[in-house]
Amino acid sequence: MTRSVGRVRRVHFALAAILLVSAMRAAPAAAPFAVTELAPGLYAHRGHDDVATPANRGDIANVGFVVGTRCVAVIDTGGTAEEGRALRAAIRAVTPLPVCYVINTHMHPDHILGNAAFRDDHPQFVGSATLPEAEASHADSYLRVLRRELGAIADGSEIIAPTLLVDGTATLDLGGRQLTLRTWKTAHTNNDLTVYDEKSGTLWLADLLFVECIPVIDGSLVGWLADIAAIRQMKPRRVVPGHGPLDAPWPASLDAEEAYLAGLARDVRAAIRRGETMQQAIDTIGLDQRDKWRLFDIYHRRNVTAAYAELEWEQ
Ligand SMILES: [Zn+2]
Repeated sequence: MTRSVGRVRRVHFALAAILLVSAMRAAPAAAPFAVTELAPGLYAHRGHDDVATPANRGDIANVGFVVGTRCVAVIDTGGTAEEGRALRAAIRAVTPLPVCYVINTHMHPDHILGNAAFRDDHPQFVGSATLPEAEASHADSYLRVLRRELGAIADGSEIIAPTLLVDGTATLDLGGRQLTLRTWKTAHTNNDLTVYDEKSGTLWLADLLFVECIPVIDGSLVGWLADIAAIRQMKPRRVVPGHGPLDAPWPASLDAEEAYLAGLARDVRAAIRRGETMQQAIDTIGLDQRDKWRLFDIYHRRNVTAAYAELEWEQ
């Protein structure tokens, strides 16, 4: 009896070893986690311009951190706990100062699922006042999709809700360095938050700015266009997008995003006025934009759908 149990166990161990080896083969090892110092004490990591895949290990959003004289603020933590740990190691390579804030710019999984890597630092997790509910209502699907797309690479990834909420503006003091946080009208999502580093004049726009990668509407097209007008008035020296090159040309990158979104609003409104169905709009609108944006085939039709659903209520 004991023997046969032992044998069964050995078989299980052998099977587990095979599964582990095949999982390792399926997922290439993580590439070194590169960060660029965009301004003194302000660092950013450039994500892959793609959806999450085993090859990119879910590292698809731009993330970063800001170093003061007292402590460090992290701005987004990446798409997995693994990426969060890599970001934490990159911080440790730069400074021994504690991480006092982990800022989440919005609910999307590629920006927040590395939070767990910072739990033992006991930071304040910071987000829009509308973030907790948005995260709670999407948690199951985000984690299910992550597991489906990444398998074991998703291990340890979880949603950690904000402990410090922002509604309007708030200032975080890192010691000799102030970050001004601001929430926005519903645009990319209903919980967008930006970070302005006074010291370097850098405005971290996260997913309110997409560069070269197509903007994705998961909130409101009308709200986003209004936010863009307000962002323009902030006249930052530098902007950091949530997706695309870290040295985003300013204001040309915002101009390009606005042109896409404004064109979408114009064409969808015209289609609705002509009495076209949502499907007709999807089949015809914005197709000439295809060569201008990465991931167009994945997100453009979804954008037309979102725009139609929003704008038909204007009529
Ligand atoms: Zn996003």
